[in-house]
Amino acid sequence: MIPKEPENHTKKCSKCGIEKPLTEFYKNKRSKDKTTCRCKTCLRAIGNVYYQNEEHKAYQKAYNNAYKQNKQFKDKKKVYNKTYNQSEKGIAFYHSEKHKAYRKTYSQSEKRKAYNKAYQKTYQQSEKGIAYRKAYQQSERYKALRKTYKLSEEQKAHNKVYGQSEKYKAYRNAYLKTYRQREKVKAYYKAYYQRRKGKTTGKELDTT
Ligand SMILES: [Zn+2]
Repeated sequence: MIPKEPENHTKKCSKCGIEKPLTEFYKNKRSKDKTTCRCKTCLRAIGNVYYQNEEHKAYQKAYNNAYKQNKQFKDKKKVYNKTYNQSEKGIAFYHSEKHKAYRKTYSQSEKRKAYNKAYQKTYQQSEKGIAYRKAYQQSERYKALRKTYKLSEEQKAHNKVYGQSEKYKAYRNAYLKTYRQREKVKAYYKAYYQRRKGKTTGKELDTT
């Protein structure tokens, strides 16, 4: 095989038509002469136009976002995060003042509170949450706790104040309003008043 001397070989660019040395062409394994048919200058010009194109930018952004949502990427990131968190660097960062401050701000943020609330609600309504609560209420531990449960003086004082607060009154009024509107409750009261009516009129007088 004759050793390649690119400088001695030239090729005509299919775009600009200029005869240029082979070093002025990119390598392309798929083409016959292993170089691109357009010269580097011409390809670069196309490339620059293409990459500056708004459409391409939008496409790249969408692609990146989709990639981040990709399960494979998420799994990879999970593994990476785990390794990082367990690494010396990661542990040091976790204990750093910067991260401490970040945790503090985040735990007090509205975002975190909303997340916690939503999470608790879904959990409590989930099969798992319901089953857990049921099991807990039937546990010996819970029964024992209930037996020994006594309010501390502090809690008693707190409840007293809370019971007289406007906040509690508003809560109770709202609760009673919806409570009385329940069909079952309505039926119960109706029956109750009818019984009372019967007792206070004729019947009671008859027996005495
Ligand atoms: Zn060219």
